[in-house]
Amino acid sequence: MNIRTRFAPSPTGFLHIGGARTALFSWAYARRHGGKFILRIEDTDLERSTETSVAAILESMQWLGLDWDEGPFFQMKRLARYKEVADQLIAAGHAYYDYMSREELEELRKVQMQRGEKPRYDGRWRPGHKLKVPEGVKPVVRFLTPRDGEIGWHDLVKGPISFPNKELDDLVILRADGVPTYNFGVVVDDLDMEITHVIRGDDHVNNTPRQIHIFNAMAKPLPAFAHLPMILGADGERLSKRHGAVSVTQYRDEGYLPEALLNALARLGWSHGNDEVFSMKQMVGWFDLGHVSHSAAQFDPEKALWMNQQYIKNADLNVLSNLTKEILQKMNVNTDAGPKLDQVIFLVKDRAHTIPQIAEAAKIFYTYDEPDASKLTAPVRSALVLLLEKLRASNWDRKSLGAAVSEVVKASGLKMPELAMPARLLVTGRTQTPSLDAVLELIGRETVLARLSRHLKGG
Ligand code: GLU
Repeated sequence: MNIRTRFAPSPTGFLHIGGARTALFSWAYARRHGGKFILRIEDTDLERSTETSVAAILESMQWLGLDWDEGPFFQMKRLARYKEVADQLIAAGHAYYDYMSREELEELRKVQMQRGEKPRYDGRWRPGHKLKVPEGVKPVVRFLTPRDGEIGWHDLVKGPISFPNKELDDLVILRADGVPTYNFGVVVDDLDMEITHVIRGDDHVNNTPRQIHIFNAMAKPLPAFAHLPMILGADGERLSKRHGAVSVTQYRDEGYLPEALLNALARLGWSHGNDEVFSMKQMVGWFDLGHVSHSAAQFDPEKALWMNQQYIKNADLNVLSNLTKEILQKMNVNTDAGPKLDQVIFLVKDRAHTIPQIAEAAKIFYTYDEPDASKLTAPVRSALVLLLEKLRASNWDRKSLGAAVSEVVKASGLKMPELAMPARLLVTGRTQTPSLDAVLELIGRETVLARLSRHLKGG
């Protein structure tokens, strides 16, 4: 079988963690089986869909590297096709026009509520009705749902699921303005796009029986369904904006590497043994729906941050360098003068969790905050003078620089931090820096000696 999966977001906001996880699993399944991954934009909610959201979704997918083989297809460009299928269903007796006005529907609802019943369409325009078609009213098209029996499927994640038909009413499939409702558009598209596996969030489980009825009415074989467990925040509540960053672009802007975010997403409801850090290539080699968990997954931002740190440690220096440079430029920090950015990044990256943290740590090699040397005590000052002397004679490699520092510690009787802190301060303008020998090496002979002698003059 040629596997075809799809991701079908509604462009009503950014691509969030949940949507990206769905996209990743659909993508991985297609890639695993040498199939095709299709992108479809479900833009039929005219009030809430925006171009900005479409752009954000495409941008997020591209940034993550979730490449699609076909699309993006837009539902609003396919209205003629939905009308055609609705007409076919009407002709075959599976759907019918309903001319009920908004007021009549409201009235029906009120009566049902008063009787303590669940509001539902009462089927008054079902085929065989004796009603007179009102003039000037544009009808909706409703699907004729069987009233007896039940409908079910074997979900590839959740196992067998079924619903009694009496719980489903005759849903509207085409609105009066010709725009399809979600459940109809999705079926027509999944059929036309020859989707073999519908992989989506489990908030759609309740929609699936309605969709299956439509597939059956069209006498088409069903795709397989796989409903992914929902995602909770670290506090056990459903993941939402309350939990901080939930959109993919925000993670990008906060300095996450796409590979790290993907890895974190991959662990949301799927596992491969105890493997924690793995590449997308590995995931594609391993991914199966059988190991998707039945219960809710938890997204822990701390874990994502940790994951990012792992990826930063092993990332290509060139990649880190370009990303860091961008941020430094925004901070008006010029990296052309001073040590090579690659070398600086190599030194600072292991402690960083995000790219902005790298930039912050790298900044000290390209900017200098004039320190206040007036508070140095006499013993510290003379130790620094000795250090300056020893540095002048040094070979300027990390080892010799480290040795020079240790010799001064010994000779002066100071403790290492008592010397290293003020040395850092004079050389970099800060007291918090990576290891002193490495900092001296990178900042370079000329600059270090100039800064030290300037501040120790007259001492
Ligand atoms: N457009 C739907 C949503 O964004 C997805 C529908 C589906 O995957 O079937 O929730």
